[in-house]
Amino acid sequence: MKCPRCNADLTPAIRHKIQVGYCPSCKGMWLERDELEQLEDEVFDFGEHAKGTLVTAATPTSDRCPECNAYLSRFRYRFYDLEMEFCTNQHGYWLEDDEDTRVLELMRKEEADLARKLLAEDRWTAALKRMRSGSFLSRVRDLFH
Ligand SMILES: [Zn+2]
Ligand SMILES: [Zn+2]
Repeated sequence: MKCPRCNADLTPAIRHKIQVGYCPSCKGMWLERDELEQLEDEVFDFGEHAKGTLVTAATPTSDRCPECNAYLSRFRYRFYDLEMEFCTNQHGYWLEDDEDTRVLELMRKEEADLARKLLAEDRWTAALKRMRSGSFLSRVRDLFH
């Protein structure tokens, strides 16, 4: 695989116990989709419900995905002031030098607060989903009949 930035060959490396494709030239790294989630899980488990919130507003870049050569898009990582690039075909994420360490730092700092927030959101979403689902409505009807 080639580095999206400088086209050097990516070499396998271990960062924070996670296997990444590391660029020896610009020190960036390529994480496959699951690998970023593993990195987060090193700190604490968001649970499956939170994974969908990973990518917010994204803008296209001129960097290319090492796997499919599509242009990478830049996005803000969760709610933080930290930008990453990702493949819109879901191959993975491109992190610049030490951004993975910042991810871990942010995670630790915001852990309690964010977990509370996500849990609350999840409960609310689940409640809405139940309310909209036919099975719930029919259960309610059953109750009143
Ligand atoms: Zn590079
Ligand atoms: Zn790709």
